[in-house]
Amino acid sequence: MSPSPAATLAGAYFPGPRSENETWVRGEFQTVLDQWFDWRKGLFAGDPGSASAADRLSPERLRKREELSQHLAELCEALTAETPTHTPRYIGHMKAEVSLPALFGWLAAMLHNPNNTSRESSRVGSVIEAEAVAMLATMVGYDPVRAQGHFTSGGTVANFEAVWRARYRLDHWLSMGLHVAEATGDVLDPFAAAHMGWDRFRELWFDHDLTDDQLRACSAAVGNPASVWRRISEAARREYLGPVMLVPGNKHYSWLKAANLFGLGEDSLWSIALDAEGRLDVDDFERLTRLAESQGRPVLMTVGVAGATETGGIDPIHRLHDRLDRWRDDRERHIWRHVDAAYGGFLCSLLGGADEKHLSPDSAAALRAIATADSVTIDPHKLGYVPYACGAFLTRDTASYAVSAFDAPYLDRPELGDGKWSSTMEGSRSASGAAATWLTGRSLGFGPEGLGAVLAETIRTRAAFQAAVVEALPCIRFVDPADSNIACFSVADDGESLASANTRTEALFNVIHQSPEFSVSKTTLGPEYQALIARHTERYGGTADAPGLFLIRCVFMNPYWAAPDFREVLFPQFIALVRQALAGKTDRPPATDPRNTEAVERTEMLDCCGLD
Ligand SMILES: *Cc1c(COP(=O)(O)O)cnc(C)c1O
Repeated sequence: MSPSPAATLAGAYFPGPRSENETWVRGEFQTVLDQWFDWRKGLFAGDPGSASAADRLSPERLRKREELSQHLAELCEALTAETPTHTPRYIGHMKAEVSLPALFGWLAAMLHNPNNTSRESSRVGSVIEAEAVAMLATMVGYDPVRAQGHFTSGGTVANFEAVWRARYRLDHWLSMGLHVAEATGDVLDPFAAAHMGWDRFRELWFDHDLTDDQLRACSAAVGNPASVWRRISEAARREYLGPVMLVPGNKHYSWLKAANLFGLGEDSLWSIALDAEGRLDVDDFERLTRLAESQGRPVLMTVGVAGATETGGIDPIHRLHDRLDRWRDDRERHIWRHVDAAYGGFLCSLLGGADEKHLSPDSAAALRAIATADSVTIDPHKLGYVPYACGAFLTRDTASYAVSAFDAPYLDRPELGDGKWSSTMEGSRSASGAAATWLTGRSLGFGPEGLGAVLAETIRTRAAFQAAVVEALPCIRFVDPADSNIACFSVADDGESLASANTRTEALFNVIHQSPEFSVSKTTLGPEYQALIARHTERYGGTADAPGLFLIRCVFMNPYWAAPDFREVLFPQFIALVRQALAGKTDRPPATDPRNTEAVERTEMLDCCGLD
């Protein structure tokens, strides 16, 4: 039988679980180094070198070299104690093997060490970055000519970039509203003003013959925020309490950091309720938006999540954006839409191909709707198989990319021509992640025939795993449906209480965690997942008598699972490990290690599934 397209891609574009591509990879690394050395040798060939041949062989020099070699060997040796995340046995966190195009691209750019902070310090790197941004933009459905963006150190910073821009826009519109209210004596509606849209903004700008300085005098981002808010309160004839941010309950921790960092206060982070499948509930979005309006508090941004950190769930972004369209079209309220697709963004590569069927129709529609977001976060260092630290932030158009203390996007911004230094949160930025992403796009490709095929296989693997485990062990309860390649499960007998199931699931986690065979992760879904927890326990007639649901989490992003051999060999091993643990027959960890005593006690509590 010939290997599947995904298995062929995994074989060609990754080092190989047992370093099968070693010879070729060595050759490519060598070629990159050769080229780099030759380039250096060829430049300024008449300049003096650092040493004569005799100096190079001096005992002093040789000793230094020897020392460095020793320390390097130590470093390499120390690093072998890292968790082996390249093997399919690692299903712990959002981390797996890195791809060869990413490694090659990374190495090639790193040797030249460009700093993408400006064109001056990165003549080539910044062009590569722009091209890589266009590739990602195309993948998520943006028009690559209009889209803007840059690479960040990760999804956290990319999310901050979105807040920064949303706040810039909101501040412009609200400043305009305040200026007009103060000039005319009309009552200010802060919600209406803060969502007026650029067309209305321009209209007012010309109607009132405004200057930049006049608007700056009304800006909370430029002036003293306390005094500007007081003026807003006066103009609105009610107390102004500042903007809120609508973020679903399945949010990543970075949103809490953002609220903190931007001085919004965690209190202004309004959590959109989740439905019984753990996804954003659009009716609750509507409710919160109306509540914000009734309180005169603008919505700084709404966030939909594509690939939730805990479960891999994909919010109904299409439905959320339909609602936002209505707020815009019927009521002229332009609310910033951001999609946190740090994890799931690359699943857009499945769209339009035969493998799209591995996504639910809702997930596919949600991923398509990213194209109508103002901004999106996407992490090449997750499902893009690029080394850390590599995130990306994209906006649909240039106007949404604009950010500064005050310059309006319709003014010429000559500094953008020199590079992005003034519009990125980070200063100096490596070109390596961009080059890694660029080479991945050029070779593997971000479409259904490339990365899409690899990722479709990871979703199929997750589904096959779930089927195999449930068949062998009926008391393993998966969180269902899973939208992507992350499987979460608990252990529970029919009718068991949640508190008891949590204890046993945690005990099982500890056993797997201590076995060298597999790496899994754990998570506890809290009260924001109440509807999901109720449904999960209902399925086996359990009682939800605890506030949280403890889950074992398996992330199936490793590309090598595409080779059927891995499933045939490793699934039974995993099942055997769980079966043994549940039957209380695991080899007991040495009780001398104090960390393990708790696990030993718990192992004794494990009997279930009628296995013993
Ligand atoms: C991973 C993740 C982030 C944060 O990304 P980092 O790259 O770790 O900073 C943000 N949001 C979601 C949904 C994520 O999965």
